[in-house]
Amino acid sequence: MNTEPGELISSARPAPYAATDAVSRGRRYAEPSPAYRSEFQRDRDRIIHAAAFRRLEYKTQVFVNHEGDLFRTRLTHSIEVAQIARSIARALRLNEDLTEAIALAHDLGHTPFGHAGQDALNGCMKEYGGFEHNLQSLRVVDELEEKYADFPGLNLTFETREGILKHCSRKNAVELGELGERFLKKQQPSLEAQLTNLADEIAYNSHDVDDGLRAELIHVDQLNDIPLFYRQYEEVKQRYPDLSQRRTIHEVVRRLINCQVVDLVQTSDQRLEQVCPADLESVRRQPQALITFSDSMRELNHELKGFLRNHLYRHYRVHRMSAKAMRVIRDLFDAFFQDPRLMPEEAQLRVAELSDNAGTIGQARAVADYIAGMTDRYAITEHARIYNPEKLT
Ligand code: MG
Repeated sequence: MNTEPGELISSARPAPYAATDAVSRGRRYAEPSPAYRSEFQRDRDRIIHAAAFRRLEYKTQVFVNHEGDLFRTRLTHSIEVAQIARSIARALRLNEDLTEAIALAHDLGHTPFGHAGQDALNGCMKEYGGFEHNLQSLRVVDELEEKYADFPGLNLTFETREGILKHCSRKNAVELGELGERFLKKQQPSLEAQLTNLADEIAYNSHDVDDGLRAELIHVDQLNDIPLFYRQYEEVKQRYPDLSQRRTIHEVVRRLINCQVVDLVQTSDQRLEQVCPADLESVRRQPQALITFSDSMRELNHELKGFLRNHLYRHYRVHRMSAKAMRVIRDLFDAFFQDPRLMPEEAQLRVAELSDNAGTIGQARAVADYIAGMTDRYAITEHARIYNPEKLT
């Protein structure tokens, strides 16, 4: 990279290994090129207009949506990921539109109630092919959105779909055809997909620290042994000794994000210079991802993740919410799977359609699609409508 930090970085000249319209593998259903927009810009716009995107506002990351208005939801998380990912893409002269599209779509398949919801639904679907939010995001953009006259789903480009599918089992990779190929051949996705994946990590680690501290589930003293946090904290304290605790934490979180982004850009830039891939296809053929943290940052990151797992995600108050959430999901699945006529008419039609094709497996999938699409609030209300005799409609 010829630019120095602080220098204006222009996205006008994409690097030779960036994804561009010219090298895109295109869409599943051919369409004329958009006027005044790039193909990836059109992807990004279609995602913004999707119903599943709007629902992210009422879906949980770690905290249940109605717990407090200040906490992140999947919508604000996705926007934060897009912001971080775009900065990285611009610094590395990669495709910002593709990066943003992947970032905004990456969580579309999440169930209500975060990971607890996904685990519960996966348990319910054990005998029917399982449930995985990553694959579900792809299902949303490929099939479930009903927006366009000419095709099901959003008909996104191969590159955006490739970026959404971060991981995939061998069995599913075989079924997915062209999109699954890279998992079988052990190839890499575009650099835009690689960086968005890491931007996601930077975003959730940092904002879970922020939200966890605000909720008083974790405390600054506990983070003493976590250098990634503490180094920044000490620096801020030294420089601004009289700053309020709230502003101190925000300043620390801001620096936490920034130091990871800078490390990622510098390390990846060096690797790209060493390997010098000629184009996107050569990026795909690399044995390893070219977008990475330095070894030391990866280690620091690992420690922070371990801390969050032990002290935040396993905190008894979070666990109580998760346990409750799992019960709601299981109850809903049981009720709808046993008797699909309890579902709204539109969802019943999907059950009929999918069970015509795949019998019980199809029926279970349609129920899982219906539940996965719910917001936290809607799932709680549906649960009451089905199980609470005092709730009549
Ligand atoms: Mg995410």
